[in-house]
Amino acid sequence: MQISQIEHLGIATPSIEQAIPYYENVLGLKLLGIEEVADQKVRTAFFKIGEVKLELLEPTCPESTIAKFIEKNGGRGGIHHIAFKTDDVAACLEDAKAKGVTLIDEKPRKGAEGLNIAFLHPKSTMSVLTEICEDPNEK
Ligand code: ZN
Repeated sequence: MQISQIEHLGIATPSIEQAIPYYENVLGLKLLGIEEVADQKVRTAFFKIGEVKLELLEPTCPESTIAKFIEKNGGRGGIHHIAFKTDDVAACLEDAKAKGVTLIDEKPRKGAEGLNIAFLHPKSTMSVLTEICEDPNEK
């Protein structure tokens, strides 16, 4: 697997509006934008720190996996996943599968910011939900 960097950290939050002032006013980070990803039943807000981003994730309905994560976490948010950048998600999935890793996504799908993404199952990734992503505009 060819990983070039950490692309972003995914942080679950019950409310993006309540979380944003902390990142903007306390940490002084710049909000890149807010985007709804209907497919994943979330609203996302991105901040950039150097080459790495923070992805705040707010559930848009109770069936969202983010809603379930927050519920398990006593109604609070927290670090939800780590996303690694590659230039070939499909090849990474193939490689991971060959090495016995359980995949959540068998094939890359569209994530926030137009990235192609796929998740590896935490039971195979030392309990850390792991996202692999590529930017199709960089190809
Ligand atoms: Zn993510």
